[in-house]
Amino acid sequence: MNADLLAGLNPEQLRAVTWPAKSALVLAGAGSGKTRVLTTRIAWLLSTGQASPAAILGVTFTNKAAREMQTRLSAMLPVNTRTMWIGTFHGLCNRMLRIHYRDAGLPQTFQIMDPGEQSSAIKRLLKILDVSDEKFPPKAVAAFINGNKEAGRRAGELSAHDSYTRKLIEIYAAYDAQCNREGVVDFAELLLRCYELLSRNAALAEHYRNRFRHILVDEFQDTNLLQYAWLRLLAGSDAALFAVGDDDQSIYAFRGAEVGNMRSLLADYGIEGPVRLEQNYRSVGNILTAANALIEKNDGRLGKNLWTDAGEGEPIRLYEAYSDGDEAEFVCDEVKALVREGWNLSDMAVLYRSNAQSRALEHALVNAGLAYRIYGGLRFFERQEIKHAMAYLRLVSNPDDDNALLRVINVPARGIGARSVENIQTLSREQGVSLWQATCGASGGRSAGKVAAFVLLIEELRAKVELLTLAEMISLIIDRSGLRALYEADRKEGEERLANLDELINAAAGFMPDDPAQEMVEFLTAASLEAGEHQADAGSDALQLMTVHAAKGLEFDAVFVSGLEEGLFPHENSLNDSKGLQEERRLMYVAVTRARKRLYLSSAQSRMLHGQSRYPIRSRFVDEIPQELVHELAGKKAPQRAPAKAPWLTEAMPAWASPKGGDYGGFHIGQSVGHAKFGIGMVVSAEGSGSDVRLQINFAEHGMKWLDLRYAKLTAQ
Ligand code: ATP
Ligand code: MG
Repeated sequence: MNADLLAGLNPEQLRAVTWPAKSALVLAGAGSGKTRVLTTRIAWLLSTGQASPAAILGVTFTNKAAREMQTRLSAMLPVNTRTMWIGTFHGLCNRMLRIHYRDAGLPQTFQIMDPGEQSSAIKRLLKILDVSDEKFPPKAVAAFINGNKEAGRRAGELSAHDSYTRKLIEIYAAYDAQCNREGVVDFAELLLRCYELLSRNAALAEHYRNRFRHILVDEFQDTNLLQYAWLRLLAGSDAALFAVGDDDQSIYAFRGAEVGNMRSLLADYGIEGPVRLEQNYRSVGNILTAANALIEKNDGRLGKNLWTDAGEGEPIRLYEAYSDGDEAEFVCDEVKALVREGWNLSDMAVLYRSNAQSRALEHALVNAGLAYRIYGGLRFFERQEIKHAMAYLRLVSNPDDDNALLRVINVPARGIGARSVENIQTLSREQGVSLWQATCGASGGRSAGKVAAFVLLIEELRAKVELLTLAEMISLIIDRSGLRALYEADRKEGEERLANLDELINAAAGFMPDDPAQEMVEFLTAASLEAGEHQADAGSDALQLMTVHAAKGLEFDAVFVSGLEEGLFPHENSLNDSKGLQEERRLMYVAVTRARKRLYLSSAQSRMLHGQSRYPIRSRFVDEIPQELVHELAGKKAPQRAPAKAPWLTEAMPAWASPKGGDYGGFHIGQSVGHAKFGIGMVVSAEGSGSDVRLQINFAEHGMKWLDLRYAKLTAQ
């Protein structure tokens, strides 16, 4: 088994995988097998009996990467990877805090606030403190708080010479007090709280130090100071801290990541020098040469060589569109051509610097009837109706969650006016109790009866927790809260919102908790973590759309890097700042190195962005790629064509939309289907298998919907 595990590794990879039980840093460029080395090392440690599954702590950058690592491990070894501690920093800290919630000073049902919720919590606080949000914009306050948390600093440890910073520190302290009162934690707090838990509790830290003998970290270049400190606490002086990373792919400096952690790791653990991997297994020669040429323009690099024996491959294709719409059509045309040649949609990705760019692309893809999936964007759980329903669920789980209470106390409108809410807030402040407690105690006033009815509603729901499944609970919430009636009465958007709420019930029905007794809390946690992570699941055969940030660590046969324009990529905020520009260049390096075989670069001469037409010039990054590697494709000069007819109106399905062995509960991508309520539509994407299949359908009159085949009745057309 060992021989099999190690077969195919090159000598440096083998050296890294079989590194003795001591700390190491693998420093290597994109596609050189860092992630593969990390996964193989875990398998090797387990299969040689050097470590038990419980002794491993694996840190990945995204939840998706963690799941992938677990899948690969289970394929290599007969171990139950679900119980292993493999996850993101946030996920692992959350897990530890759930176990030791008392020691951490948290309620058992503490909830996680995603960045959007944090921002509304700050707005609420500023109001209470009577601080102008023009002078102290919530965004800036959040950045101040998060930045300090990520550096491990509490408000009490800060001092200031100017009154502005003094005020910020005051707000920080009040914010922490508010979070504690409400039993909620933001993302940065997860880490800081866990760090403090371990640093203040010697016995507990000792317990974990004895347990995790091997700590393995992927994408180490993007760890921040607090994350590194957390790792050091857990590693102590004995554990083997095995980190892999690439300074050229450090793309989170804006969020406090520190490439300097690599140098610190070498010094702190007496590591003689990094292990270097130099062979790239991902990309053909032209792509690799382009990436190397590009990143050479940065200074202060730790320096690396990367080569491939894959041959030059095809030239890099460059397309200069006359508009963003033309660019999007170009992408669609090329994708269709590749599909005709036999490529899978899911092996292709379209990358963009900024989320707003996806709109034009989506529009063209829908017109072309191409199945696609957007990774990221705060999709499902960001929608208004879902947030409302989830706020009720939060209240059921923990009524002291003030954010949740404020969100729904008068949604749907039940006659509790702003004045009454303010009274409740005053009461809560004066008595030092949560809004819920204040609401229960509120009496008198014009809306006293209505407030009492709201309290009754929440109490009625809470009383049913033990009796109902999670899906039944959510269904009850939607009915009893009045949300269903609210959207049923909404002719414009109601239908879609109701479909989304039904989808939430489906999601709850399909949710698999680790601990059934904690199902509700786990569901709420999973929703918050999903919403905060700009990444979604792969699976069905669909074109992948994502920001460059979200593409880190991934690879695709064909990659389109779109919007290569000054001000967009590099981003306008970086144009006058050499540090910022170098980070943008690393981002471009990440984008280019995602491609295995074919790379497209595109730009547009005019683009609609934030509601305005812009006429940008082509990105400098295009010119930094040696021109002999590039083949420029002729652009279209004609004005934009009329939008294509909706695909379900064409007589025959085009060849590229025919099923490619993909059967999803009797349906396939590209098929026309009928639904009693939504009418006729086309299946554009699917996920799941067996009895658990969800189809994404583009309905002629109702737009895109995800439907669960267990519930939705579809007919083939
Ligand atoms: P990134 O910096 O982008 O995260 P990475 O260094 O983590 O890249 P991997 O994703 O581990 O690189 O590997 C890149 C590709 O090369 C993967 O498809 C992997 O399976 C393949 N690969 C790595 N090592 C070998 C090898 N020795 N033989 C064949 N293929 C390999
Ligand atoms: Mg990797």
